[in-house]
Amino acid sequence: MPITYVVFYLRALLPRSFRHKKVMQNLRQYQVPLQRYMALMDLQERNERLFYKLLIDHVEELLPIVYTPTVGEACQKYGSIFRRPQGLYISLREKGKILEVLKNWPERSIQVIVVTDGERILGLGDLGCQGMGIPVGKLSLYTALGGIRPSACLPVTIDVGTNNENMLKDEFYIGLRQKRTRGQEYAELLHEFMSAVKQNYGEKVLIQFEDFANHNAFELLAKYRNTHLVFNDDIQGTAAVVLAGIVASLKLVGGTLSEHTFLFLGAGEAGTGIAELIALEMSKQTKAPVDECRKRIWLVDSKGLIVSSRMESLQHFKKPWAHEHEPIRTLLDAVKSIRPTVLIGSSGVGKTFTKEVVETMSSFNEKPIILALSNPTSQSECTAEEAYNWSQGRAIFASGSPFDPVQVNGKMHVPGQANNAYIFPGFGLGLVISGAVRVHDDMLLAAAEALANQVREENLDKGMLYPPFSNIRKISARIAANVAAKAYELGLATRLPQPEDLVRYAESCMYSPAYRSFL
Ligand code: NAD
Repeated sequence: MPITYVVFYLRALLPRSFRHKKVMQNLRQYQVPLQRYMALMDLQERNERLFYKLLIDHVEELLPIVYTPTVGEACQKYGSIFRRPQGLYISLREKGKILEVLKNWPERSIQVIVVTDGERILGLGDLGCQGMGIPVGKLSLYTALGGIRPSACLPVTIDVGTNNENMLKDEFYIGLRQKRTRGQEYAELLHEFMSAVKQNYGEKVLIQFEDFANHNAFELLAKYRNTHLVFNDDIQGTAAVVLAGIVASLKLVGGTLSEHTFLFLGAGEAGTGIAELIALEMSKQTKAPVDECRKRIWLVDSKGLIVSSRMESLQHFKKPWAHEHEPIRTLLDAVKSIRPTVLIGSSGVGKTFTKEVVETMSSFNEKPIILALSNPTSQSECTAEEAYNWSQGRAIFASGSPFDPVQVNGKMHVPGQANNAYIFPGFGLGLVISGAVRVHDDMLLAAAEALANQVREENLDKGMLYPPFSNIRKISARIAANVAAKAYELGLATRLPQPEDLVRYAESCMYSPAYRSFL
């Protein structure tokens, strides 16, 4: 008899043939996605290991529950469905005491913090303190897809009020009942938080900014990227996943990155983040200055094409894209004038890639690359079916929200989904295993390269620009290895000596929710 029987006195506490399939069956009996979400959150609380086992084994089925779209609804109703706090709520009332507050968290050894101030939750706007569902959901994915230990993850919501009247009136709203604080007081609270985190957890803790409104998102990233290990998934994660899709698409379309011309609809966090990373990669490949490479990339915002005559009135993150050109008001006219080979939608406004836009793209491109990134599905610039049909099956298409395969002229096209979950878990794992102290843009390029390299011939044959999601833990390990290798190369890694086989090392570091056998 194994010694564990004697020591743990576990025998007969479970029936002989209990299977986790049963829990999955129970979950599927809930018809309403929010009920599934609540059941999953209860399971996470009750039996964390089983929660992760299910999430890993059924990732494609459960991802839309634990994360977008269901998590959005959960945030909207967070006050009503609230059972137990799942992270740290740091409000203006904690100003001056944030270090103390961090010490109240029961776990000491934290590796990844996801923090939001709830101002721009998915496409749902300001949900204030109820945005907590986002850090909680993202960190579950860090564990399930990237293998970060659950106890090393810390979800944080910074509560500075909300401008959402419905929340303020809701009797179950869980946050401060006041309008958002901005300006100096906001900056001071954030600064105290950033300093306290470093003081409490050291230099190597990753702080991921999530769903901040774009003015704060750009500012926080710029302010802390040289002093802290910070990452913004909305800007940088999106950029890496989209660049990977574009690099993969070139295998179908031909040409190098710098031989293509890019036009974006939408010049916010996603649009300018992607544009910048494409320019950086072009610059690496051609040795041309980044400024030169930016000239092959054009952006349209709500006021039309971004051109130099608009320079004065542009937000600072749009200025690098203000090229010499006559003003153009509409996307269609911009397409006709710029003649892009790649069209990317990132404005959050649906149905903007009209039949005319797609047909015009198809008139001067043998295989137009069309990426409709806006979420949720209703906001997608066009559907997969529209892109394939309007281009007579010639478009290379990927989207932010998932679409079913489409048959055109007897050929099946499988649209890729540019899901950030391809990148951020592996990216974070790479930082953690190398003990990186700063995020460098070259690490984002390394992550994109690793993802693009995992798209196989047979995926491309079907039009898929991303590998199947079912292999995500292997994909994450490879991304982690490439990111870690870059951290070592740049002298930003502190875990020494460098492991010889980084892929194997990454895999060996990944948390696995396997049950130990005591029988
Ligand atoms: P954002 O608010 O930072 O940027 C939106 C931009 O669109 C702004 O520049 C705005 O001026 C512009 N815009 C608004 N209305 C417009 C119009 N009618 N015509 C042209 N431009 C217009 O938002 P974001 O974080 O950049 O996200 C934008 C969209 O991208 C969202 O729908 C989001 O869901 C999606 N997104 C997808 C992925 C992905 O596919 N992996 C990742 C991140 C964001």
